[in-house]
Amino acid sequence: LPGQMMRRPLLISSLLRHADRYFGDRDIVSYGDDGKLHRYTYRDCHARTQRLARALEQRNVRMGDRITTLAWNGYRHLELYYGISGMGAVIHTLNPRLHAEQLAYILNDAASQYLFFERSFAPQVREIVAHCPAIRHYVLLGDDDALHGIDGIPNLISYEALLAPDADGWSWPVFDEDAASGLCYTSGTTGNPKGVLYSHRSTVLHAYAQVAPDAFNLSASDCILPVVPMFHVNAWGLPYSAALVGAKLVLPGPSLGGAALHAMCEQEGVTFSAGVPTIWLGLLNFVREHHLRFSTFRRVVIGGSACPPALMDSLRDQYGLQVIHAFGMTELSPLATVCTPQAQHTSLPPEAMRALLQKQGHVLYGMDARIADDDNTELPWDGATCGHLQVRGQWVVDAYYGHPPGSAVTDGWFATGDVANISSDGYIQITDRSKDLIKSGGEWIGSIDLENIAMAHPQVQLAACVGVAHDKWDERPLLVVVRKSGADVQPADLLALYDGKVAKWWIPDDVVFVDTLPLGPTGKILKHRVREQFRQHLRN
Ligand code: ADP
Repeated sequence: LPGQMMRRPLLISSLLRHADRYFGDRDIVSYGDDGKLHRYTYRDCHARTQRLARALEQRNVRMGDRITTLAWNGYRHLELYYGISGMGAVIHTLNPRLHAEQLAYILNDAASQYLFFERSFAPQVREIVAHCPAIRHYVLLGDDDALHGIDGIPNLISYEALLAPDADGWSWPVFDEDAASGLCYTSGTTGNPKGVLYSHRSTVLHAYAQVAPDAFNLSASDCILPVVPMFHVNAWGLPYSAALVGAKLVLPGPSLGGAALHAMCEQEGVTFSAGVPTIWLGLLNFVREHHLRFSTFRRVVIGGSACPPALMDSLRDQYGLQVIHAFGMTELSPLATVCTPQAQHTSLPPEAMRALLQKQGHVLYGMDARIADDDNTELPWDGATCGHLQVRGQWVVDAYYGHPPGSAVTDGWFATGDVANISSDGYIQITDRSKDLIKSGGEWIGSIDLENIAMAHPQVQLAACVGVAHDKWDERPLLVVVRKSGADVQPADLLALYDGKVAKWWIPDDVVFVDTLPLGPTGKILKHRVREQFRQHLRN
């Protein structure tokens, strides 16, 4: 017996239309790559987005065509998010921190026809023009004046000139919610980057799940600052969920340093933000040095790599922020788990609560997880047994772009490549990426725990623990540390931190100090590079 309820497809355009109708006066504030501040409302944004969508239709862009962006978090990028997907094409967000070769590889794999880019990325674009013959049009995110002085890029027009003069009488097309909406590539730390093709349905369901109280707890009273770039897995879905709840949006452009972020928080009344740990380390150092506080900033989601407990503690205990640890991947749209406490945790003593909040958390409805051994047999949820973390759900990849259906899935599950344990009440703790695990004498050592202990030292800025070659044990942990400026902490001081905290054989064999650690295009430490650099360290 079929149900008799209306069937309205879950389309991305409906999010912005909703924000316009019910929160039309709410501000969207955006900082340009020229440092200029731009302010308008959801109503203005919707009107311009419709003009963009109409213009793309007039230019014969078709359902499913890929259109690439190379841009920071800004209002034109937001219009592209909604305009491209809304008219049925696919927005492909490119990470400008990749090398020209990788950019060209990805653009060709995506077979994009348009490239929309910010003026500050003109040098990268010039480098790839000759290698990307499929691109028919280049569009500069600015007006005609901004075109001056840019040469070497063919078929170049300005965004403002491209927009249709009006959208009178035009309305969003209605189509199947399973249609592709966005394309994002993994950063390819191993092998070539692979595309993940999101659908309207997966994106809207992800937004629904993300705003829930035990997830990001977003509402119309929030002012959201997505620090995570719009080229890093759709800014973790925030441009969609902000419109869903009607929250004010502050788009930070390229300025992601501590000073700029603190100023934005104070000037615009930011209540919520999200980003990778390195961003929050920068902000924390800045506010500490300048003896500053936050007047409205209350909640911060930290994810993308394990959040060092010391960072979490400082933001919570000294600055009163609720720090929410979250886990996700490009392949998972990205959000899989969020760590918020539940009723059974209210009477936990502070230390136990602290330990709980350091976990990656519980899955959201729509997502399911398990751990399995090497033979793919499910392992128990006892909070100790570690296994390969596998997930399935409404917004999990089924196949990489261009690959046959189901090819990213084994027995109905997607393997995350992470190693984790799960507690009896479903809290997931990631102990390592499979490829970062240190294998000493045939046993696994989790690098995240070892890094967290080092990061708790007040003179440590950043730490990476990697497995390096060892004649007897095959691999042993080596701690590679960036000290804070003026710090004089010595290897023995750091190694002493491990006494009593981890098994003796987990304690790193040595500590080396470096000026910087290599960071990847999404701000994570490139541990494979650190590993390569110090591979022979213990043999010298
Ligand atoms: P990349 O592989 O390029 O880093 P993603 O941004 O998709 O691309 O990263 C996903 C990976 O990041 C996960 O598989 C996991 O290893 C790591 N990760 C993300 N969030 C967390 C977290 N909160 N704790 C530990 N690891 C995390």
